[in-house]
Amino acid sequence: MHGYVGSMLKIKRIDHVAIAVADVDAALEKWRALGLEATVREVVASQKTEAVLLPVGDSNLELISPKGNDGLAKFLEKRGPGLHHVAIEVEGIEQALAFLAGIGVQLIDSTPRIGARGHKVAFLHPKSTGGVLVELVEEAHA
Ligand code: ZN
Repeated sequence: MHGYVGSMLKIKRIDHVAIAVADVDAALEKWRALGLEATVREVVASQKTEAVLLPVGDSNLELISPKGNDGLAKFLEKRGPGLHHVAIEVEGIEQALAFLAGIGVQLIDSTPRIGARGHKVAFLHPKSTGGVLVELVEEAHA
């Protein structure tokens, strides 16, 4: 059962909502005050970011901070900390990307990269999604 009638995408859920931060520790303090705790904290080599996951029910907030990622550093410079992208979990990320390319969606990554938690990830261009940076995620199966 997938909640997207008429689409070839096998969409499962919102995996995470990512928030760009300059100072991970300061941000963690603020979220901790709201009762959210980090479970995973890692430097993601392929993205040149540090990522921290804070579970919220079946989903997560993800705090991301640049560790050599110029795009993210510029985002913070220009706009300050704030919402950065929404990540949707899909089944079969390669097929999802092929389908989206086929209907004219602009892809930032035409093939998946390895993201946080070892998952396969790929970004869609905000031009194709109404101004929101969207990430597709497929869980790494052990
Ligand atoms: Zn993400």
